[in-house]
Amino acid sequence: MLTVSRMLTEYKTDPIGIDEPSPRFFYTLSGDGAKQTSRRITVKNESGRIVWDSGVVKSAETTQIEYAGTPLRPRTRYVWRVEAVSDRRETARGQASFETGMMRGAWQAQWIAGRLSLDNRLPVQNTHRTFSLSRVPARARLYISALGLYEAKVNGKPVTENCLAPGWTDYYERVQYQVYDVSELLEKGENTLSVDLAEGWYSGRISRAWDHENPSWGEYPMLIAELRAGEKVLCATGEGWKFTDTDTRMSDIYMGETVDRHAASFTEHPAVVRRPPVRLEWTVGTPIRRIRTLKPVSITRLANGAHIVDFGVNFAGREKFTLRNAPAGTAILIRHGEMLRADGTLYTDNLRSAAATTTYFAQGGVTETYEPRFTFYGFRYLEVTGWPGKLGKRDIEAAALSSALPETGKFHCSNELVNRLFDNIIRGQESNFVDVPTDCPQRDERQGWSGDTQVFTNVATYNRFAPEFYAKWLVDMNLGRQDELYPSFAPHPYHREREKMPGEHFFSAGWGDAGIICPYQLFRKYGDLRVARTWLDNMERSLVRQLELNDGDPIVPFSVYGDWLNIDAPTDKPLIATAYLAGMAKLVSRLAAACGDTPRAERMETLYQAERAAFIDRFFTPGGELVCRTQTAALLALHFDLVPEKARRKTVDFLVRDIDKTHKCHLSTGFLGTPLLLPVLTKLGRTDLAYRLLEQTTYPGWLFPVTNGATTMWERWNSWTPDKGFGAVSMNSFNHYAYGAVGEWFYETICGILPGEAGGFRRFRLAPEPGGTFTEASAEYDSLYGKITSAWKIGAKGKLVWRFTVPFGTEADLVPPPGFAGKLPKTVGPGSYEYTFTPVKKA
Ligand code: BGC
Repeated sequence: MLTVSRMLTEYKTDPIGIDEPSPRFFYTLSGDGAKQTSRRITVKNESGRIVWDSGVVKSAETTQIEYAGTPLRPRTRYVWRVEAVSDRRETARGQASFETGMMRGAWQAQWIAGRLSLDNRLPVQNTHRTFSLSRVPARARLYISALGLYEAKVNGKPVTENCLAPGWTDYYERVQYQVYDVSELLEKGENTLSVDLAEGWYSGRISRAWDHENPSWGEYPMLIAELRAGEKVLCATGEGWKFTDTDTRMSDIYMGETVDRHAASFTEHPAVVRRPPVRLEWTVGTPIRRIRTLKPVSITRLANGAHIVDFGVNFAGREKFTLRNAPAGTAILIRHGEMLRADGTLYTDNLRSAAATTTYFAQGGVTETYEPRFTFYGFRYLEVTGWPGKLGKRDIEAAALSSALPETGKFHCSNELVNRLFDNIIRGQESNFVDVPTDCPQRDERQGWSGDTQVFTNVATYNRFAPEFYAKWLVDMNLGRQDELYPSFAPHPYHREREKMPGEHFFSAGWGDAGIICPYQLFRKYGDLRVARTWLDNMERSLVRQLELNDGDPIVPFSVYGDWLNIDAPTDKPLIATAYLAGMAKLVSRLAAACGDTPRAERMETLYQAERAAFIDRFFTPGGELVCRTQTAALLALHFDLVPEKARRKTVDFLVRDIDKTHKCHLSTGFLGTPLLLPVLTKLGRTDLAYRLLEQTTYPGWLFPVTNGATTMWERWNSWTPDKGFGAVSMNSFNHYAYGAVGEWFYETICGILPGEAGGFRRFRLAPEPGGTFTEASAEYDSLYGKITSAWKIGAKGKLVWRFTVPFGTEADLVPPPGFAGKLPKTVGPGSYEYTFTPVKKA
């Protein structure tokens, strides 16, 4: 039977608060037959009138279908229905809804601020209002946002479980607002809307210049809130409101949170109406939530009486403790760290100036439970000082915080260390996907570094459903451009005030290029061309501008960070920058072609050819040798197809020799070279060497941290070593996902799941490559069309059994596993399959 198993609007399930004028619809079909032959979508408004009828469309496509009806109206709920017919003439029907937000309409609420202080580390402020209802409306919505962070309650009940709202955007220009369904929270008679307001990413230390004192986007937090029942405004911020300091005396993303339950008096501040020049935009991104509860695996006591709590794994989040009958005013100090020193004490040197401390003064005499609200920490261990008596496992737990993205990928294999590496990659992703893709979640940094993001997007979009997460971040990448070049991190807190910003933190090859690579990955995974189309102009300009700034010289010097954190094998910076310029021209050309923009596709292809020629001329000797003798130089040249035919053999030989012989099967690469190692070796037919490199357990390599107890990805290959201990303290995170980019190879090569040339998975490839010590491996990827699986196992006499599934509505091009012989069709439609292969004897 044909059924509609999932329906999404703008990638979301029955969303409320969508301002997109032509939202996209997605649905997933399952059942017998191969594909859909026709579909019809109708959209009705609240009065049941049809606002769009697609008519019967003969098409197999079930994703990225754009609404094309009469203009949508604000704050309106729409129901959409799909009727899909399969090649078996079965019909499936489904229904879903979406509700529009404020759209371009004006808010009645005004922005208000309490404390007008230039300082940071301010107390959290509360504002509340009472309003009266003669009857409870059937539908009520709270439209709310803050420059800062807010938590809202209606009649004492939280309006959401989301955390750290409204999230982090380029507040020079925009902030996202949220819409909550508060219908159930209202009562007849008196009602109260109460909101707490903190500094967060807007005016806290994280957004201040490198001295962490100088404000950028704004000096103090502000709030806007409007509670409505349909067109009637029940309560809206504006004149006459007031703020009161709360017992949260300080809350800051880097510094932590201080709460004084014992405090008695609080200062009041009349609300001041402000007009910050930001746009209120609907929430494209995914809200942050508590995605998991962690319990302590051990609690030990130090000689000085402090407790060390170990949660077993490194993550981003915060602790929650329960204190029973403590003496009033008891002071508890909780510090956070990723590692312990050899003597069992907490290691915090790598947090730099981030105090990352919870300070709590107890009310006393009651049971009090506390979890910080407007900050988060990157940690595995806590050091708890001042706890009255013995801290037990029942007294404390922790919540992992992350953008709540559905899991779409799984991987498992026979090498347990590689499985642990995969788990570490996932934990790195969760910890660094707190609304913005960041470098790390713990020290005084936590910025949306674009180089780290760029290398990680491919694996990230297998692991988790992240189209909205990236689409939202890409807006800030584009807003943050300087002189048409993309920034090295976004949201960029001082791109409007360059004088506050050391110049070197702007465009760098392989960083800013995330502005091109991330949209390309969204096209590959989700067939999303809207993001690409939106930014194509900026992409092209960012490339052309590099040449203009370089007086037309095709060898561009725009590499600041080089092959960041490589191991004594620095790659020539102009080589890196020119390779990236060529590679990006190729990507923009592909995206433009996919968008039907042929002139642009041709221009960018011409640019690619010109850069390629210049690269060959400058970086290869007449004898066909690479001038720069590093793994990364060879990898970039091979990956971006910049190697002339006559130099191919020599380049490949050099790379293989350098890895295998010179470095005794080790890498020497940094942020830019590392992600290319395994994919390029596979492209060269050297998957054997790729496996050996992956399975290498000695320094430097991916499994070295794993064998040394890592539970997340480390920033440096030597963040910690048994002989030297902790690495350079000025920059040494134990939760940096960049090197986790290697996980893409688990999906794409080990199990061989790959999107098709046309973007998305309607036609995809299955091409697994067994190797190394692996006797089995399996991966799953939940595509927009449904679940794809690929699992192989080597059994008696080296026979290989390969099982895979192809979802309804898709086709898979199959490639037999290299080194094995057996029958296999070239292409298959939906179904579950099993094929057996025998090993080919090597001559
Ligand atoms: C960050 C990196 C980032 C780099 C730029 C560091 O401080 O943590 O991950 O990409 O700066 O080189």
